[in-house]
Amino acid sequence: MAGGEKRKKPSAMKKLWTRYKGKGGRKCRFCGNARGLVRSYNLRICRRCFREVGEQIGFRKY
Ligand SMILES: [Zn+2]
Repeated sequence: MAGGEKRKKPSAMKKLWTRYKGKGGRKCRFCGNARGLVRSYNLRICRRCFREVGEQIGFRKY
């Protein structure tokens, strides 16, 4: 059988989303840095944290 397994999203993603809901700031929700924010995905994470958290969420930088 061919493996057609889809990527499962880790539960960490849900936690992150629900954890930071409501407060809409232009700062990284992890380190509070407003530099190099990644708004492309409405994540509001700075690039630094994005690299770390991105992997957990399921994003990959190309
Ligand atoms: Zn950050």
